[in-house]
Amino acid sequence: RPDVLDPALLRPGRFDRRVVVSRPDLNGRLGILKVHTKKVPVSPEVELNTIARGTPGFSGADLENLVNEAALYAARKNKSVVEPSDFEYAKDKVMMGAERRSMLLTEKEKLTTAYHESGHALVAKKLPNADPVHKLTIVPRGMALGLMQQLPEADKHTYSKSYWMDQLAVFFGGRAAEELVFQEMNTGASSDIERATDIARRMVCEWGMSALGPVHYSAKEEHVFLGRDIGKSREHSESVQFEIDQEVKAILQSRYEVAKQIVAENLEVLHNLAKAVMEKETLDSDDIERIVKGETLSPGPQGGPSGTSEASVGVSVAA
Ligand code: ZN
Repeated sequence: RPDVLDPALLRPGRFDRRVVVSRPDLNGRLGILKVHTKKVPVSPEVELNTIARGTPGFSGADLENLVNEAALYAARKNKSVVEPSDFEYAKDKVMMGAERRSMLLTEKEKLTTAYHESGHALVAKKLPNADPVHKLTIVPRGMALGLMQQLPEADKHTYSKSYWMDQLAVFFGGRAAEELVFQEMNTGASSDIERATDIARRMVCEWGMSALGPVHYSAKEEHVFLGRDIGKSREHSESVQFEIDQEVKAILQSRYEVAKQIVAENLEVLHNLAKAVMEKETLDSDDIERIVKGETLSPGPQGGPSGTSEASVGVSVAA
C-alpha cells in the first residue's frame, strides 16, 4: 500500500522502487505449474501447457492449491500418479468451490436452477462479445445451487464497453429465464443482480462509459480504514448522484430487456438446455454448442457419484 506511506519514506534512495506483481500470464502459469509439480508424481499424459491455458486469472497460490488438490484427489482414489482427470477435478474445486452432493434439492428447486443456469448460458452463447461458455452444472458448489462458467479465450487486460454490455445481459439471463418459464422471481438471482449493479456503477462512475460522460465520480468508500482517503466525501452534488443512480438503473434495465428478448426468442433452446442439464447434471462447452445448434445429445448420465466431471473450468462464474 504505497499510498499509506509517508511521502518522506518514498524519496529517492529510500523506498523509491515500485515492483508491480500482477497475476501470471500463460508462460508465468506454466513456469509456476512446473515448480509445483516437481515433487508430485504426475502422469505423462498430463499436459501442463493445457492446464496453464485453461486457468487464466489464476494466481501462483491458486496454481499451487490446484496441484495440491489434484494430488489429494488422486491419492484418495489410490492412484500412484496424478492424471489429467484429477487436475480437472481440482480446477473445478479451486474455481467454483467443493461440490456439495449431500445437499438435497427438491425437484422444483433443481428445475428452477436448471432453467436459471441455462438462461445464463443461452444469453452468453447468443451475444458476440461475452466470454465463451465453458460449463453448465446443477451440482451445488459452495453457496451456489448451480453454476454457469465462462472462460475467456486468452489472458485479458482491458475490457471494452461492448464486452461489459454483453456480460450484463448474461448476468440477467438467469432471472430472465425464470421469469419467462415460471412467471416467478426467485432469490437465486441476488448475486447476479449485485454483480451487475456493481459493474454498471463502475461503467458510469469510473470508466466513463455512459451518457454522463468521461468524468470520474468518486463515491467509493472501500477500504477507507487502510487508505489515506479517510473521511473523504463525495465530490459531486446530490443532483449528480441522482443522475448517476438513474443512469445505472437505465443501463441495467436495458440489459435485462436484452436478456429477456434473447430468452424469449430462443425458448426451445432454453428448454433443451434445461432438459439436458437435468439429465446429465453437467454440460461442457461441446454439449452446449450442440444444443444451441439444435442437435441432440447422446443420452446417458455422465459423472459418477464421486463427481468425475470432465469439463474444463472457467474464470467468470455466474451462480
Ligand atoms: Zn445466476
